[in-house]
Amino acid sequence: MSRLPFFCAQRHGLEMKIRSGGHDYEGLSYISKSNKVPFFLLDMFKLRYIDVDLESESAWVQAGATLGEVYYEISERSRIHGFPAGVCPTVGVGGHLSGGGYGNMMRKYGLSVDNIIDAKVVDVNGIILDRKSMGEDMFWAIRGGGGGASFGVVIAYRIKLVQVPETVTIFRVEKTLEENATESVYAWQEIAHKLHEDLFIRLILEVETVLRQDYEKPLELRSRPCSSETLRDFSEL
Ligand SMILES: Cc1cc2nc3c(=O)[nH]c(=O)nc-3n(C[C@H](O)[C@H](O)[C@H](O)COP(=O)(O)OP(=O)(O)OC[C@H]3O[C@@H](n4cnc5c(N)ncnc54)[C@H](O)[C@@H]3O)c2cc1C
Repeated sequence: MSRLPFFCAQRHGLEMKIRSGGHDYEGLSYISKSNKVPFFLLDMFKLRYIDVDLESESAWVQAGATLGEVYYEISERSRIHGFPAGVCPTVGVGGHLSGGGYGNMMRKYGLSVDNIIDAKVVDVNGIILDRKSMGEDMFWAIRGGGGGASFGVVIAYRIKLVQVPETVTIFRVEKTLEENATESVYAWQEIAHKLHEDLFIRLILEVETVLRQDYEKPLELRSRPCSSETLRDFSEL
């Protein structure tokens, strides 16, 4: 990565926004809350190389890769390795691994940040640092400090691969209030955390939305705001 953006920002008094997957809920990677400081966007989307090394059970993943790409590359190399991170495949590595990263394997393996073993970060002077040269304090801070933007630009993370079974069973149960969903929620709160760590149960409370295309043909849909797949479905109506 070139040092030019840093010099450019400093010389011209510009704010630099860093965007990897662009999934920040508040748009921190591409909007400015203050109109006074002009900004430019450093887009990491071309830095998406993923290098899986099964011998060391680790991988270097560049910040612009998506979680889906990480999962796919690992699964191409091994049926018994995975990485604990979020459920949305289009979330970017850069923001996700800088902020925590929870997903279906968190009961067994913790968060993504618990499984990072090294990183390459460009600091404000344009110097590329790794874990050794940045020191343990900064390495700790970039794993959860809310976007490495506070500390530098993360180019890549070295992640620890975890063991997964070759076959995984999944199931999905949907219940409405009329079908005693309230009792299921209560039971989930009581027992989900006491079950064996190989069993992960995720509970999603959703609003059932009724959309009317026209008055003749009412349509009933379950709204699932976190799924880009569903957003596509809605737009086709
Ligand atoms: C649809 C959806 C589903 C989600 N699902 C999950 C989930 O299952 N689990 C979970 O834990 N979270 C989930 N999230 C939250 C998501 O992990 C965070 O919003 C995350 O910060 C997004 O990372 P990004 O790279 O896509 O976003 P971006 O908007 O690109 O970046 C987010 C923040 O990190 C900074 N940043 C980005 N790249 C870099 C970099 N290379 N160096 C330094 N700073 C950088 C940005 O400046 C910004 O402040 C979800 C979000 C959405 C929108």
